[in-house]
Amino acid sequence: MTVRVRIAPSPTGDPHVGTAYIGLLNWSFAKHHGGKFILRIEDTDQTRCSESSAQAIYDSMKWLGLTYDEGPDVGGDRGPYVQSERVKLGIYRKYADQLIAQGDAYYCFATARELEAMKARQRAANEPIMYDRRYRGFDLEEAKKRVASGEPYVIRMKTPLEGEFVYRDRLRKQPVVKGWKEIDDQVLLKSDGWPTYHLAAVVDDHLMGITHVIRAEEWLNSLPKHIWLNEKLGFTAPEYVHVGLLRNADKSKISKRKNPTSLLWYRQQGFLPEALLNFLALLGHSHPDGIEKFDLTEMARFFDLDRINVAGPVFDLAKLRHLQGLYFRELDAERAKAEVLKAVETRFEQLFPILRERMACGGDFLAQAEPYYADAVTHHVEDLIPKGLVKEDARALLEDAQRAFKQHIAADGTVWDAPSLEKLLRDLIAEKSQVPPIGATPEQEAAAKRWTTKNLFGLVRVAATGRRETPPLFDTLAAIGAMKSIERLGAAQMKLR
Ligand code: GLU
Repeated sequence: MTVRVRIAPSPTGDPHVGTAYIGLLNWSFAKHHGGKFILRIEDTDQTRCSESSAQAIYDSMKWLGLTYDEGPDVGGDRGPYVQSERVKLGIYRKYADQLIAQGDAYYCFATARELEAMKARQRAANEPIMYDRRYRGFDLEEAKKRVASGEPYVIRMKTPLEGEFVYRDRLRKQPVVKGWKEIDDQVLLKSDGWPTYHLAAVVDDHLMGITHVIRAEEWLNSLPKHIWLNEKLGFTAPEYVHVGLLRNADKSKISKRKNPTSLLWYRQQGFLPEALLNFLALLGHSHPDGIEKFDLTEMARFFDLDRINVAGPVFDLAKLRHLQGLYFRELDAERAKAEVLKAVETRFEQLFPILRERMACGGDFLAQAEPYYADAVTHHVEDLIPKGLVKEDARALLEDAQRAFKQHIAADGTVWDAPSLEKLLRDLIAEKSQVPPIGATPEQEAAAKRWTTKNLFGLVRVAATGRRETPPLFDTLAAIGAMKSIERLGAAQMKLR
């Protein structure tokens, strides 16, 4: 059997470091066994996916050197490799129809409103929130008539109602066990005729001849549905293997709030792809001889799927920097110089337009630019307390602004640029400066009055830069970057304790 593995990212937002991690494991497994590594784009949720995100995935994989043998931009004989193109070829519908014909799936006509009411009732009764299978026993001939008359419908899988799902994942001591009755009658085909991820992924893994699905454990919950679909569609299921999720230091799933997760960020910062891959290779896996620094070829040589440790590997930026340093200091002088110049140039292009106003000669640039790239800035407490406020007020304002920044970057599809940041803070002020229409306490009134642009903008400026005067605030925050801005707002709050 020739090993064929894939990664199947959804192109939403920036390319994710988790995609590189899973990509590396799949790539190494394929290379170790002389097999093929495939890239498939899963974009059936058209509201969240974009072509530019897909392009950024191709670019990032190339930058990393995780070359795929088949994929959207390289072709292959099992394509197309983008699911939206496959939808247009009618690939998925026939499998949904097959399941209907076999009695393993059914039409459901429940409207969004009906489903909302159902959920509200379940919530009120403290019952688990899941589709109550109301159309499961509906007469098929009757359903077909309604479909033919143009009524909107979805197709759902007829999940078993009793018994247990059991699966042995080679990386886990305990088998995966789930009671079927807790598993939803999953939608397979949506009302717009597009497949859901579950149907599309299982069908494509089969049609693309995938032998092993190596993916993150967040997909374990979907495993029963996937195995069931393979069985009912008469496919030989690939072997599913679930590896640990990358985690923040507090063991939560890696998130933008606590770590840079975008591959573009690492590239812009000047991390070397070799170092990033080496770092990822050490997460949940290790060199059999305990060697810390090794390249992709070496990884492919010793890679052993069975040696992967699934206990959620912690993504430690300090460790990455350490490895990166080893690689960087070994570069020949020319390449090292080029790396530095690239970094300086990127910063220069970004900062010069906003600093120019404040410069009298070229040499001023370095001093003016310092607060933008320094690891930390020094805060003077007196600068951090707007006129008429006390320490606690200033800290409360900063706390809320920092929270708003964190929520902003954690949300899907948001960007850290001047217009979005301005809107964010202005909206925050508009919200916080409101007083309850009736019965406001004097404290509430006083708190609302502190929410002025003068107070907040001034405070955020000092917190983010250490200075009272800077170029326009939002350009400044955009240039400093999300992580640093948030960190500095945190440091300013400490100063106010
Ligand atoms: N499209 C899924 C994702 O975004 C793929 C999950 C899988 O590998 O089955 O990660």
